[in-house]
Amino acid sequence: MIKIDQLYINGQFVIPNGTEVQDLINPSTKEIIGRVTLGNEQDTRDAIAAAKEAFKTFSKTTVEERSEMLQRLHDVMMDHFEALNQVAVDEYGAPEGATAARTLYAAKNFLHNKASLSEFQFEKRMGKAKVVLEPLGVIGLITPWNANYTHISTKLAPAIAAGCTVVIKASELSAIQTQVITECFHKAGIPAGVINFVHGRGDVVGAELTRHPDVAMISFTGSSQVGKIIGRDAANTMKRLVLELGGKSPNVILDDADFNKAIPMSVMTAFSNSGQACHVGSRLIVPEHRLEEVKRLVKTTIDGIKVGSPREAGVYIGPMVNQKQYETVQHYIKLGVDEGAELVVGGEGHPEGLEQGYFVKPTVFAHVTMDMSIAKEEIFGPVLSILTFKTEEEAIEIANNSIYGLSAYVSSSDLEAANRVASRIVSGRVLINGLHDEPTAPFGGFKQSGIGREFGVYGLQEYVEPKTILGHDVVQ
Ligand code: NAD
Repeated sequence: MIKIDQLYINGQFVIPNGTEVQDLINPSTKEIIGRVTLGNEQDTRDAIAAAKEAFKTFSKTTVEERSEMLQRLHDVMMDHFEALNQVAVDEYGAPEGATAARTLYAAKNFLHNKASLSEFQFEKRMGKAKVVLEPLGVIGLITPWNANYTHISTKLAPAIAAGCTVVIKASELSAIQTQVITECFHKAGIPAGVINFVHGRGDVVGAELTRHPDVAMISFTGSSQVGKIIGRDAANTMKRLVLELGGKSPNVILDDADFNKAIPMSVMTAFSNSGQACHVGSRLIVPEHRLEEVKRLVKTTIDGIKVGSPREAGVYIGPMVNQKQYETVQHYIKLGVDEGAELVVGGEGHPEGLEQGYFVKPTVFAHVTMDMSIAKEEIFGPVLSILTFKTEEEAIEIANNSIYGLSAYVSSSDLEAANRVASRIVSGRVLINGLHDEPTAPFGGFKQSGIGREFGVYGLQEYVEPKTILGHDVVQ
């Protein structure tokens, strides 16, 4: 049993004022594996005060100093790579291989930001003016449970690069992972008060960060529902907001695509991170006259996908993170059937022999129409909806018929057609013919998928404020 009863404030591990204790559960077995004492509003205020004090000197550090710190943050994560992975498997339930890849990605974020920092211009001339990009101040970082280390490093790295100090409130469902990464960062020799961690609930610690006048910006990743609450609460103190929210990403397969490649890839991406990922292509949009072929390819692909314990070799889909997430997925599978979609594979309940954890059956629906809940709402589990089109125009219309606009996918053997469709999809990212990544290019959403961007120079820009100085060269 892991006991977490400390917060990290001003470079020290301290006992929280908060007294609420929360169980931490292994989703593969439903066993209680830990207990965390949650921080309260006073703890949050203490952390903000430490960050505010540290900002006075940290904001004056040089690019070289901060560059070295980013390198050290990367290095400590790599030094504790195995420890980070093991607790992510136990507490979150992600299959081991996928966890390792994500931890590596999280560590690399520090190096990518180091590269962005080296090319970032903190001072520019614009006509007669000198424009200085100053670090914003104390930043509240609020993150979800579905890739704990990645979300923390995606926000922390640009904050450090810019010269900002932070208070991190990670998901209360990831307290063990957060504790391990905090212990790593403690070893990186970052000045006291620059990085602070407060374990706690969203409506307590997250809300205090959002309301507090000494916090200049909230960088949040999570649901659109909570993003809207944060937007409303932050308005009183005019905070800058970066909101990375939900998605219901379209995956358009044009008629001339290689279906033998595109369909298996579509199923695998839709179910990556056990379907608990914001960017997955959960709406598969295919030509109407190819539907039977698509269904056949989907079934064959799913036959080859292993659901099970994240420690078992070859497992691709682990459990849902908790009982609530399990029930949400079950609710949508039932709703899909009730609303008249055709169940191609999967369905309600646990896969056979996996009743001991929050495992669900990978599920695919066909004959999904745009008015159905399973076509509109984010499920955040391995549930894929297939919609059909007759013309390219209709495919684009279906793709854009969503309150979200985070990611999109297009497959075609005609690059010109693929690029034409990509240019008309309203989405922060479009991937053509495969799963590509570019960690220096911006990531974020159109519409209700969010505000602002992460990664690279665009991500770093969110953490600075331009100050215009006129007459800087005028002698009286
Ligand atoms: P969530 O919105 O429930 O919680 C996210 C974080 O917000 C948690 O730390 C939570 O404690 C905190 N929070 C809750 N209420 C709050 C409040 N009133 N004030 C301040 N903070 C509060 O999301 P989740 O269930 O942890 O994660 C799943 C969601 O995250 C999905 O909707 C998914 O699409 C989204 N997500 C988006 C991205 C992206 O990059 N766009 C990436 C991953 C996940």
